[in-house]
Amino acid sequence: MLDAGFFAAWVEEAARSVLAGKDRLTRLDTAIGDGDHGTNLDRGLTAAVQALADHRPATPGALLVLVGGTLIRRVGGASGPLYGTAFREAGKALGEEPEVSPGALAGALEAAVDGVRSLGSAAEGDKTMVDALAPAVRALAQAVREGRDVREALDAAAAAARGGAEATVPMQARKGRASYLGPRSVGHEDPGAASAALLVEALRTVAAR
Ligand code: ADP
Ligand code: MG
Ligand code: MG
Repeated sequence: MLDAGFFAAWVEEAARSVLAGKDRLTRLDTAIGDGDHGTNLDRGLTAAVQALADHRPATPGALLVLVGGTLIRRVGGASGPLYGTAFREAGKALGEEPEVSPGALAGALEAAVDGVRSLGSAAEGDKTMVDALAPAVRALAQAVREGRDVREALDAAAAAARGGAEATVPMQARKGRASYLGPRSVGHEDPGAASAALLVEALRTVAAR
């Protein structure tokens, strides 16, 4: 079972990982966007870590809702509302339970991706964060259904997220700024898919501790 401490550790690990990957995310967004994705997400996750240090909610659900609200306020751009919605929807799906089962985690991440899809109206194949998030959540849900433990399930999710991000390279963007480039968006990994993979990999890292 996963408690609020686990989710706080996830947010901290995600912030560390995005800081370490900030230059790469910025390079990817310079190629097919406006070059701010690394700094946007670093600013938002740094603010989220600070918000949790100021006041850590007692339940995983409330914690993720707080993180989502912080990202919406602090990130801006396309990814702020999208990631903010993802965390908020995951938090709402968890309700007020003090501890979360692997099945509930999978359900919450399904709600997160549904939130991103309905806000951004991107489908898989449009070359966005959805291309990393959706396969990760499918892999997680499947592993949980097969009765695998949370570490193994998150290993599968992290591998699917990374694979999904890499699969955006040959895609032509149909949503967001990169879509303005048309065929010139082909040949680059989508920055939001790359950051989504970092977030799922951070979850795996924390579960493996
Ligand atoms: P901006 O494009 O406003 O500068 P960011 O650079 O922070 O915002 O984020 C860009 C990322 O947001 C893209 O790489 C893509 O993954 C994601 N994105 C953009 N539009 C959408 C959308 N409609 N649906 C899902 N994801 C999107
Ligand atoms: Mg950008
Ligand atoms: Mg921007």
